Amino acid sequence: MPSLSYSSLSDMIPYGKQTIGEDDIAAVVEVLRSDWLTTGPKVAEFERSFAEFCGCSHAVAVSNGTAALHVAMAAAGVGPGDEVIVPAITFVATANAAVYLGARPVFADVDPGTLLIDPGSIDRLITPRTKLIVAVDYSGQPCDYSRLRGCASAHGIPLLADACHALGATYRQRPVGSLADLSTFSFHPVKPLTTGEGGMIVTSDGESARRMRVFRSHGITTDFRQRESAGSWDYDMVSLGYNFRLPDLSCALGISQLRKLPAWIRRRNQIAGIYHKAFAGSENIRPLAACDDRTHGYHLFVVRVSCDRSQAFKKLREAGIGVNVHYKPVYLHPFYRNMGYDAGLCPVAESAFESLLTLPVYPLMTDADAAEVIAQVSEVVAATE
Ligand SMILES: *Cc1c(COP(=O)(O)O)cnc(C)c1O
Repeated sequence: MPSLSYSSLSDMIPYGKQTIGEDDIAAVVEVLRSDWLTTGPKVAEFERSFAEFCGCSHAVAVSNGTAALHVAMAAAGVGPGDEVIVPAITFVATANAAVYLGARPVFADVDPGTLLIDPGSIDRLITPRTKLIVAVDYSGQPCDYSRLRGCASAHGIPLLADACHALGATYRQRPVGSLADLSTFSFHPVKPLTTGEGGMIVTSDGESARRMRVFRSHGITTDFRQRESAGSWDYDMVSLGYNFRLPDLSCALGISQLRKLPAWIRRRNQIAGIYHKAFAGSENIRPLAACDDRTHGYHLFVVRVSCDRSQAFKKLREAGIGVNVHYKPVYLHPFYRNMGYDAGLCPVAESAFESLLTLPVYPLMTDADAAEVIAQVSEVVAATE
């Protein structure tokens, strides 16, 4: 075997990492020994427990968080020629999902303190073509849903929460997942819980849940297991859908992970507390603002640094601190520039982006890891012009 550079990866304190226990492994193995690897009973079981966790009546499991956005936007009726308002600072998939459906993303600027979509920036972006407003619970902190809902309902436009970062967080005592018309989640390994790849949409609207189930499976109204139990081969394809199903293997992992999520969110908050304490009063390392009417999921711990960010990034990686950057404003990517978007669109997002640095946070991180991150970040930022 050639020696690969795994050691450098394992020496690094990563910015995020999954937590897998023996109970998770046993849950997956049990499915491997069963008759149903996909479209089986674990799908509905995961959907039920997830919906309950989010305080919502319906959950629809899909193959990843990007598919969740695609399915949710299709259910909201987004189509060719429509406009979808999305924040400038998010993962590209939030905007890409609108493009898949032939719609045009319209980028909203963010609040300078939290980097969450600025509700005050939305009104002037609304046009007769606006079909959907998308809020992103960036870093794990819920957006200002009271103002966002007010804005959406004033214009009669539905609100979608891309809550991929914020599973387990709350806004004014209400769980993420119950705050918008539709909410989407990702179960990629760095996210609050993992199924390898996976995603979910939750809603309290039964009709849109039904449409999403059809869309995730080719536009066919029944699944294989339903046909087997009805003793029928016949099926109807009523619209154009995709294969966005999540297998039972993944759902079993998700069920097992969900039980442990509250403890993981508490641990993420402990680590965030250590960081906040260490950087309180620092002029050149400033954590994003955390609002006191919400609880935070701390998918990411993001600071703004007053130094050359690319130099600091390089030095910290060399020192074994797996810092990262989330995110470049979406429209600055070449694909979107080629669509005609230009720098200057969202000045707050663009200026914040230059100074953003994501510090490691994940449930298995130790207090000693956090102390190491604090020491290295403090030293490197102070020594970098
Ligand atoms: C991770 C993520 C997605 C995409 O999820 P995948 O499961 O990776 O497809 C979408 N939006 C946000 C904000 C994310 O963080």
